[in-house]
Amino acid sequence: MQYDHDVIIIGAGPSGATVSRLLAQNGLDVMVFDKRKELGEPVRCGEGLGIREAVAQNIDIPKQCISTDIHGAKVISPDGSEIVWRDKETTGWVLERKMFDKWLMEQAVHKGARVQSYTRVTDLVYKDGKPQGVVVSHGAREPYEVTAPLIVSAEGMESQIARKAGFRALSTLYDVDTCYQYEMQEYDHENLIELYFGTEAAPRGYVWIFPKADKKANVGVGIGAHLETGMKDGGLKGATPKDFLDKFIENHPQLKNASKLQDFGGIISVGAPIDSFVKDNFLVVGTGARQVDPIHGGGIALAMEAGVIAANTILKAHNTKDYSESLLKEYETIWRAGPGKKVAKRLLLRKVLEAASDDDFNHIFKSITDKDLNKVMNGNFAGPVAKVVAGRPQLVSLLKALVS
Ligand SMILES: Cc1cc2nc3c(=O)[nH]c(=O)nc-3n(C[C@H](O)[C@H](O)[C@H](O)COP(=O)(O)OP(=O)(O)OC[C@H]3O[C@@H](n4cnc5c(N)ncnc54)[C@H](O)[C@@H]3O)c2cc1C
Repeated sequence: MQYDHDVIIIGAGPSGATVSRLLAQNGLDVMVFDKRKELGEPVRCGEGLGIREAVAQNIDIPKQCISTDIHGAKVISPDGSEIVWRDKETTGWVLERKMFDKWLMEQAVHKGARVQSYTRVTDLVYKDGKPQGVVVSHGAREPYEVTAPLIVSAEGMESQIARKAGFRALSTLYDVDTCYQYEMQEYDHENLIELYFGTEAAPRGYVWIFPKADKKANVGVGIGAHLETGMKDGGLKGATPKDFLDKFIENHPQLKNASKLQDFGGIISVGAPIDSFVKDNFLVVGTGARQVDPIHGGGIALAMEAGVIAANTILKAHNTKDYSESLLKEYETIWRAGPGKKVAKRLLLRKVLEAASDDDFNHIFKSITDKDLNKVMNGNFAGPVAKVVAGRPQLVSLLKALVS
């Protein structure tokens, strides 16, 4: 069969841009479709990215994509006690994602990839029972077919086409956080991201303040989506993320006088990755595969990291003209043995911590240091758990899952 392209990629976010850049630089004919009118916009993100993660990607992010440098994190417990945590883990940037996403895609275009904005993929084209093309809809033009032996879904949370291909990519309410964020000005900051925990601020989630240039900040909240629904069903009015955020801002000494420049809502996965990333002639990458950190909902770095792994496997498929599930499975195996292990530990941590009360949280924060936080985020739970349990033995039953 003659194809229009070697690979079709659905979505020009960080995962799609990474896959397309690496494939194009190896000479493949890559076509990327994105339904957005302008790549990168509208932004639905806190825009935080760790420096370590970008270094690992070997990308040199230009100045115009970075709003401000971040030198650490301030973690605030329900009773207001703080841990200031300055480490490689918490050093990074708050990006200008509308610039960043476009720049990432431009890098792919420089290598020879083609991208078409404002073009929605609406369906799959099957030949011999396998997806070998897509139907696209662009403006007023009649929908038309475009073919390739491999389709990559880099669709983000929506993952409609991945679902059409038979992937179980519909998250439950328990496995997502619903979010609301304002871009605010003016906010004096110390180039630290601030994370506030507690049921009053954000049940099963947190409030974030991510500083930006010109005394701006992304101020947002994510809460368990199942809680939001439950509260509504229970008749509690106004239990939406926006209401939690407005209340937080009202009580914040600086933010209550700041202006709101932009607001948006969104959802992000805090659950497990989908149970399979590949089928014959089809592969899912990035947030579409729920490759997201279940503790903080960060997915930019994981999307790019998975993009690199997927691209290496796709090159093998292209060179051997074998697009079977068994060959593509290599990508999934490498991901699950690498970044997937970290995501699995973070998921375990999330599930344990969501059962902790505010009082438990206050105790945990008082028992541990920034160094312990580092250990915890790197999956080394034993030392910090021992410290916490020493002062409150009744937490053994809650925390034992982390050390067994
Ligand atoms: C409120 C909020 C705050 C967040 N904050 C952070 C943060 O601070 N740091 C962080 O690392 N992560 C954050 N995230 C998560 C992060 O935004 C995502 O994990 C990341 O963008 C995933 O990249 P991706 O390429 O997989 O998908 P996306 O960036 O979602 O890109 C998917 C692309 O696919 C396109 N698309 C989808 N369906 C189709 C279709 N049928 N046809 C054509 N195009 C299609 C979309 O238009 C989009 O451009 C946040 C998320 C939310 C909701």
